[in-house]
Amino acid sequence: MLSVEEALAQILAKVRPLPTERVDLVASLGRVLAETVRSTRVIPPWPNSSMDGYAVRASDTHPGAALTVVGRVVAGAVPDRPIGTGEAMRIFTGAPLPGGADAVVPQEDVEATEPCVTLRAATERGAYVRPAGEDVRAGDLVLEPGTVIGPAEIGLLATLGHAQVEVSRRPRVAVLSTGSELADLGVEPGPAQIPNSNSYSLMAQVMEAGGIAINLGVVPDRLEVIGERIRRGAEADVLVSSAGVSVGDLDLVREALAAAGAELHLWKVNMRPGKPITFGTLGHRPVFGLPGNPVSAMVTFELFVRPALLAAQGRRRLNRPRVHAIAAERIANRGSRRAYLRVSLEERDGRWRARLTGDQGSGILRSMVAADGLAVLQGDTMVDVGSELEVILIRELSR
Ligand code: AMP
Ligand code: MG
Repeated sequence: MLSVEEALAQILAKVRPLPTERVDLVASLGRVLAETVRSTRVIPPWPNSSMDGYAVRASDTHPGAALTVVGRVVAGAVPDRPIGTGEAMRIFTGAPLPGGADAVVPQEDVEATEPCVTLRAATERGAYVRPAGEDVRAGDLVLEPGTVIGPAEIGLLATLGHAQVEVSRRPRVAVLSTGSELADLGVEPGPAQIPNSNSYSLMAQVMEAGGIAINLGVVPDRLEVIGERIRRGAEADVLVSSAGVSVGDLDLVREALAAAGAELHLWKVNMRPGKPITFGTLGHRPVFGLPGNPVSAMVTFELFVRPALLAAQGRRRLNRPRVHAIAAERIANRGSRRAYLRVSLEERDGRWRARLTGDQGSGILRSMVAADGLAVLQGDTMVDVGSELEVILIRELSR
């Protein structure tokens, strides 16, 4: 039996980076940068004031010093002269410092005694001055490929004059649900039918991982129908199917994939939920056959498909964050396989407290709805109330 880590390493070894594309700056939010960004600018370009006040020479300042105000400079203007000994210039936030000045005295710290200002205290060189290049210098390596672009990166790229940015293309992921018992959305389930949920949770997981989901719908457990539908997903970069991958007579997904030319591995992975998963390549495209139980499908997507989609987009960090929590109740893994248990997290006294979201049956989707994370328990372990456990965060903790 493979460990989760071994299975993931084999998957990632088969993932190829997607081509890149240029997109408008704001549209790059959440995308993965595919270029090295070096600065050709100095930011700020010149020393400027961080306060409304008076530009001065620090060496002139002492309590009671009276300096002659020789001009005024606002943001967007250029000072019309430098200042000399015994002089000051009225200045506003963001305005360039006049030549000769090396500090700013905030207006609340002076007394205006036209045509002079009288200081209350001495000032140090550099006070309230933002030096040229304090943010970025020309030639700085600012952003590296593989960075996920967030609002701060977008601001920085705008500062450096990038109206467009090179990012990895989003992976197109075809999602197929198999099972003769499935009634798709819009069809009232008949006798012996259950609603198809996997197509929708998996497509949403694809989108959350930066992919574009293509819905291949539902097929019954019939070899030629499964095969025909797999061929329809041919324009996708990745294929994800659910159900029909165990060893039952009607578990035909592997056979259909093999008939379509895929090179396949069936792995028993040391984890629960989600015993067997199928992984392979069809041409160069990764194909995943996930288990059918709704929770197993989501958890195996989380552990194997999501990192593969992030890697295809060139992301450097593939792992979800993990936190150490303490058990708010006794949590047991009675099986011999490693368990990924659905837990909710609550912060108390600066610590995360984890509680099971209810029955851990692999068909109980509501336990996923309530889950903030997956607690990782090795086989045959018991975590007592107050003891530590590790939790993989699967959503933002701001609910
Ligand atoms: P299987 O992997 O085909 O043995 O399916 C395992 C369980 O998952 C069965 O109870 C199926 O009815 C259920 N199942 C399979 N596919 C879906 C789906 N698309 N939506 C909801 N449940 C499913
Ligand atoms: Mg089935």
